[in-house]
Amino acid sequence: MRTPFLWMPAQLDLLATAGLRRERRVVRPLPGGACEIDGRRMWNFASNDYLGLAADPRLADAANAALSEAGVGARASALVAGRTEWHERLEQTLARFEGQDSAILFPTGYAANVGTIAALIDEEDVVFCDRLNHASLIDGCRLSGAKMRVFRHWELESLERELRKASEFRRRLIVTDALFSMDGDLAPLRELCDIAERFEADVLVDEAHGAGVFGEHGRGVCEHLGVECRVAVRVGTLSKAIGTLGGFIAGPQSLIDWLWNKSRPQVFSTALPPAICAAAMAAIEIIQNEPELRAKLWRNCEFVRRELDAVPRPLGSGRESNVDRAAPSRSRYGESVGPIIPIVLGGPEAAVAAQRKLEERGCLVAAIRPPTVPQGTSRLRISLSAAHDETALQQLIDALREVVPNP
Ligand SMILES: *Cc1c(COP(=O)(O)O)cnc(C)c1O
Repeated sequence: MRTPFLWMPAQLDLLATAGLRRERRVVRPLPGGACEIDGRRMWNFASNDYLGLAADPRLADAANAALSEAGVGARASALVAGRTEWHERLEQTLARFEGQDSAILFPTGYAANVGTIAALIDEEDVVFCDRLNHASLIDGCRLSGAKMRVFRHWELESLERELRKASEFRRRLIVTDALFSMDGDLAPLRELCDIAERFEADVLVDEAHGAGVFGEHGRGVCEHLGVECRVAVRVGTLSKAIGTLGGFIAGPQSLIDWLWNKSRPQVFSTALPPAICAAAMAAIEIIQNEPELRAKLWRNCEFVRRELDAVPRPLGSGRESNVDRAAPSRSRYGESVGPIIPIVLGGPEAAVAAQRKLEERGCLVAAIRPPTVPQGTSRLRISLSAAHDETALQQLIDALREVVPNP
């Protein structure tokens, strides 16, 4: 009998030797932006729960009410029999929140990106993709079958050069993260919109880390930079600041109708659980009614950046040159501005070792390695939340000062 997968152990060993093997752990969420892993309590600076809504009792109450009425699973895809009144109301809530005609839900943000990009363009088209875009955007570009042009982060001249050569394509789409998830910097959305308009291209923006965090009303980076009307498609996730699960697009009726018909992950996946929709509605209401949550997150971000900046950063510290971009709020490519603060350390082992030492000091911080980030830029990635109080932040600063030379 043939034994499959005989090749795998050696490949896994290779990953381990390169410092790239990933290990899973069990995390127990605790109140106040904390968690417990292997019996050790720590502050969680590795979550995307920017507003602390994942543990908000109002979300749990809304979910429980829907749960007792509708049960757990949605039972079918949305178009077949899975779209309950909670789905419809969440779609309407999202459309109103975003100031759009209509909205469509996806099982995840990943599915929203892949399904939307692949529904908008095909082999006759060309897509321009920032090199540091989230994997789901890149996968959507690949799946679409469109010609793909990758431009280097912040190198808009090269994007323009490529666009100039792209007039023969039927459609041109520029795809970007709003807040880059591993660098914490904003996309130059105004400039991208200027360029797009000049070359008759459309812009798709992934607001995964922007929604609920940026903008006067919490709609995201597009609102913050005043480009909501100039961007063709904004993709949102319910799984980060909104504290639940799922992806969505809010937009003009024709776009939403098109996606209902043509977006395969939406058509061929089971609808979100109704309880999740109920919780997401509660979260949107909180985001609209309690701007002070957002304000607290921003105060936390300012506090941590100020404290980290207070430590002098000597030049020529022997680290690689791309360490520049590590410096929180000072980087070659722009500035980390929101709740994500990267500290680039270089090799994967350095990032994992620093993570372990931070855990010993009661702080969970993500160690990010290739292929999530480019070779040589393994890093610590700090994610801040409105759930953290000053004790948590101070413990993080103290731990970073001990563990990372010149954070
Ligand atoms: C997390 C993330 C997604 C995927 O969202 P999920 O809802 O977790 O699938 C998409 N884009 C970016 C930039 C992200 O960080």
